[in-house]
Amino acid sequence: MQKITSVRGRLVYDSRGNKTIEVDVITDNEYVGRTSVPAGASVGRNEVINFPNGEPEKCLDAINNNSSKFVGLDPMDLKCIHETIREIDNTDNYSNVGGAFAFAITISSMESASKFFHVPLFNVLTNKSKLEFPIPLGNILGGGLHAGIGTPDIQEILICPHGSKSIRNAVEINFNVHRELQNVLYQKNLNFTGGRSDEGGWAPEINNEEALEASCKACENLGYVLGKDVSLGIDLASSTQWDQKHEKYIYKHNQLQLTQEQQIEFVSDLIDRYKLIYVEDATHQDSFDAMSELTNTFPNVFITGDDLTVTNKRILEHAIKLKSCNAAILKVNQAGSLYDALKFAQHANKNNIKIITSHRSGETIDSQIAHIGISTGSKMLKIGVVGGERVSKINELIRISEYDLIHGMTQL
Ligand code: PEP
Ligand code: MG
Repeated sequence: MQKITSVRGRLVYDSRGNKTIEVDVITDNEYVGRTSVPAGASVGRNEVINFPNGEPEKCLDAINNNSSKFVGLDPMDLKCIHETIREIDNTDNYSNVGGAFAFAITISSMESASKFFHVPLFNVLTNKSKLEFPIPLGNILGGGLHAGIGTPDIQEILICPHGSKSIRNAVEINFNVHRELQNVLYQKNLNFTGGRSDEGGWAPEINNEEALEASCKACENLGYVLGKDVSLGIDLASSTQWDQKHEKYIYKHNQLQLTQEQQIEFVSDLIDRYKLIYVEDATHQDSFDAMSELTNTFPNVFITGDDLTVTNKRILEHAIKLKSCNAAILKVNQAGSLYDALKFAQHANKNNIKIITSHRSGETIDSQIAHIGISTGSKMLKIGVVGGERVSKINELIRISEYDLIHGMTQL
């Protein structure tokens, strides 16, 4: 039987230039799985702790001090690897060793196993035979915590090429819209310098509505019909605007202060006006009832939980009970371990909650989430459009398209 022969961690850097950890798991002294850990800027309160006390060095020490506990384990036995990490950490949220420890070792183990068996990673993550490409959801314009002062309050405007018949066509549409939006913004705003947000979307000094109008115009200029060839989506990351003390959403740029009820009206109006297909974290992370109102009103829109559900099966169960969303983000490092993230995905699929596997705003050049998105039956893969750390995932999808095992694009 294949066995892990060594585990080794090191400090590397993410797309924001922040320190992160990378872990090599080696099977049979030969097959290397290597994973580095991304980081969020708008982090949900119920996510696990990425690094103990925010210190990657502490996480690294924990990995290197405990590496021998993984030697001899089967790299395919995700449950056993997960339980070994749990035993070492002994907390609910990885505050001792960091969720990054669990993230890097679980993904690296599976990657190492895939190399041992000479199959692609998605192939060891699932035994389903019907696999499809998720639609790549691309960030074309950024604001909120992902961009500078003066940019829109909405954290992300996203392009979804749901009319595409192939993954190459889908990613090319995203590149085209991103490129054309730059032209639209140059014409609209003389101060626009071509600056970009953390995820590579443009970061102009305009308000929410202007940003959405410019995005629609970019699609129209290219001849794409909104609602047919492509649609826009948004991530409001509403917990970043929510002021608990005053019970209001504070929109600094648009100078709005909205109650919960007004927020629902505001979001409903945006969905209607811009034919949005996707709305993430429309209300704050504790507002399960408000989210269920939107889910009920818009059954054909992806009403998506991110900070709401934080890749946590127990919280997802609560959201399902209250019908708070019809879609949920899967970010492995919100859960820490790939084992827990896959359990979350199974539960979502069983309950018709559409999965959107997602990158983080602080990314690495790794591309495993392309495989995780396919193997979990994700409807969309939120991976950005430009920037090396985003394109690495897009290019992995192109490589994966060379396998006959994937049967075209998922249908929404
Ligand atoms: C998000 O909120 O969906 C996101 C990708 O941002 P972050 O990684 O900052 O949470
Ligand atoms: Mg989000």
